[in-house]
Amino acid sequence: MLNIILLGPPGSGKGTQAELLVKKYNFFPISLGALLRKQITENTPHKALVQEYIDNGQLVPDSLSFQLVVNQLVQNQSQGKPLLFDGFPRTMDQAAFLDGLLIKHNTKISSVILLDVSHETLLQRLKDRATIQGRSDDQDDQKITTRMHIYAEQTLPIANYYQAQHKLYRVDGAQNPEQVVKAIEKIIDRWIKK
Ligand code: ADP
Repeated sequence: MLNIILLGPPGSGKGTQAELLVKKYNFFPISLGALLRKQITENTPHKALVQEYIDNGQLVPDSLSFQLVVNQLVQNQSQGKPLLFDGFPRTMDQAAFLDGLLIKHNTKISSVILLDVSHETLLQRLKDRATIQGRSDDQDDQKITTRMHIYAEQTLPIANYYQAQHKLYRVDGAQNPEQVVKAIEKIIDRWIKK
C-alpha cells in the first residue's frame, strides 16, 4: 500500500505539495498542522491548549496529536485510501507511534519525501506567508526560530530513521511547486511500478 510522509522544515512547502498530490493520487491527507488549527477555528474543547502551543511555536502534546491521527485512520478505514502525512511525525516518538499504529491497520509507510530548502529561502517564504495567510506563528521571529530549532533537533533525526529503512527520498524544495510535485510524482510512480 502506498503511504507517504512529507518531511521538511516550516515553509518547505509540505502543505502545498500535499494539496497537489491529493488531486493526482486520491490520497487520504493527514495534515496535523491543519487538524490542529481546525481545533481553534471550530472551537473544540482542545482550542485553548492548541492555541497556547502553536502560538509559542512549540509542538502540542503527543496525547492530543496521537488522538487526532488515530481518529483520521479510523475515518479512512471504510475508504482504504493511501495515506499522505504532512506535519506528522515530527519526533522519533511520533515516528515510533505511527509505525505501531499502521501495523494495527495492516499497513506501513512506503516512502518519505524530504523537501530540501535553504534557511534563507525558508525565512523569506514564512515572511510572505505571514502576510498572505496571517498565521500568528509566522509573524514573529522568535516563534519562527523556535520552530526551526525544533525541526533541527527533533524532526531531522527521523530522516535518518527512514533512511536506514531505505525509504527516504530527497527533493529540491526550492524549485517552483509544479517542478517539486513532478519530482515527487517520479518517486511515487517508480514505487507503484515496483
Ligand atoms: P509548519 O510546518 O510551517 O510549522 P504546520 O501547519 O505543519 O506548519 O504546523 C503548525 C504548528 O502546529 C506547529 O508549529 C506546532 O505547534 C503544531 N504541530 C504541527 N505538527 C505537529 C506535530 N506533529 N506534533 C505536535 N505539534 C504539531
